Amino acid sequence: MSLARELNIDAVIEGRGRLSPDDALRLYREASLHDLGRWSTAMAHRIHGDRVRTYVIDRNINYTNVCSANCTFCAFKRDLDEADAYTLTTQQLHDKVRELVAIGGTQVLLQGGMHPELPIEYYEQTLRDLKAAFPQVHIHGFSPPEFVEFVAVFDIEGFPRTKPGKSHELPQDVWLAKLRVIMQRLQAAGLDSIPGGGGEIFAEHVRRRIGLGKATADQWLTVMAVAHELGMFTSATMMFGHIEGVADRIDHMRRVRDAQDESIRNERPGRYMAFISWPFQRENTPLGRVPDWDEESADPFPGDLLAEGKLDHPAAKLAGKRVRMAGASEYLRMQAISRLFLDNIHSIGSSWVTMGPKIGQLGLFYGANDMGSVMMEENVVSAAGTTYCLDEPFLCHLIRTAGFIPAQRDNRYNFLKLHEGPDSPDLRVTDWSSHRIARLHIERGGCATEQTQVEDDSTKVSLPLI
Ligand code: SF4
Repeated sequence: MSLARELNIDAVIEGRGRLSPDDALRLYREASLHDLGRWSTAMAHRIHGDRVRTYVIDRNINYTNVCSANCTFCAFKRDLDEADAYTLTTQQLHDKVRELVAIGGTQVLLQGGMHPELPIEYYEQTLRDLKAAFPQVHIHGFSPPEFVEFVAVFDIEGFPRTKPGKSHELPQDVWLAKLRVIMQRLQAAGLDSIPGGGGEIFAEHVRRRIGLGKATADQWLTVMAVAHELGMFTSATMMFGHIEGVADRIDHMRRVRDAQDESIRNERPGRYMAFISWPFQRENTPLGRVPDWDEESADPFPGDLLAEGKLDHPAAKLAGKRVRMAGASEYLRMQAISRLFLDNIHSIGSSWVTMGPKIGQLGLFYGANDMGSVMMEENVVSAAGTTYCLDEPFLCHLIRTAGFIPAQRDNRYNFLKLHEGPDSPDLRVTDWSSHRIARLHIERGGCATEQTQVEDDSTKVSLPLI
């Protein structure tokens, strides 16, 4: 019997069946990339139709690069006393949002490092000021690890506080109650939704090796559950292609799917709206200096051994000491499987920021329905290597030349502008030479103001929190 029949792929595509984690593993190991593309595209067409693919115009603003965590894949963070540590002023923040609004932007992605000293009043004031100045702009901000740190360090009346990175030392009921109060206060001040940063890979054996001092998987998922209870919409992410096993990736997606099931079952007014995955970018990071796994080795990859509980195998002792980087085909394979597996998540985003525009475009044939954002500024991923910078005409061009009509969307995936006519951003361009792909480098002014290719990596960059 064919794999498609064994796993009843037709039922999955049509929304009548569901893949088990074992089924997803079999897809990874046994399905051809071509079949994965075909099946995930069919599922994307069922959910989103076959005419329109979307993008959003937002701006990643990293309000601070000070962070108390020490993720081994991060080249962005700074300690409080480092010379190039920064926290943006209100004026700087507003200048950035003003630039965003000027190009038709509708959303800011506001993320930082996990600053150990900023009080909740700083965040409330920042949100209120932004909403007062730019009421039309949606604020998508503060990923779960930031909330976990907020619980540790914020001084909230009636609740204890603890040291940075020690949120887990608070009693669970206190932790949860404090989290809820903090989230309600930030929501009241103007926070609209929460991005899925800091997901990485949920498996504990991976997380403790790569995300030192960062939210546990349970904390991450609890933050999102509380956000859903409060009516906020969120996204989920996965960063793969480092020390993890393939089964860890599937388990990560299983936990997201289960969490979404729970939010639906409990009739929480918020939901996970999107899932975005991307391969680890290694430049300038401690994790990137870990040796590569020898793909010719007769031994299984150590991360796979741990993920499958085969701890007695001699190669298991190398877990965390070898990385298995993911290239384009691996990325497309995982994205296609994510579309098929995450049957309760509305949108799958293509990660052109890390994979490049052409692979990002190809992602539309591997389960993605959304090209993410025009990139004005990105600091976190850019600090760890290659990222790209595209303006709205180029993004529309990629979608249209893939055979779809581009549409600008809002945070809830409603169409804002359907670009069918000759006045579409891409169709107005007469000279594409001024729209060549730029590499991102924030310190030089970001994508919005500089379209030249900048490959100087000698200075720090500013990009978003992973
Ligand atoms: S990835 Fe985020 S949480 Fe981790 S060290 Fe970097 S800025 Fe901090």
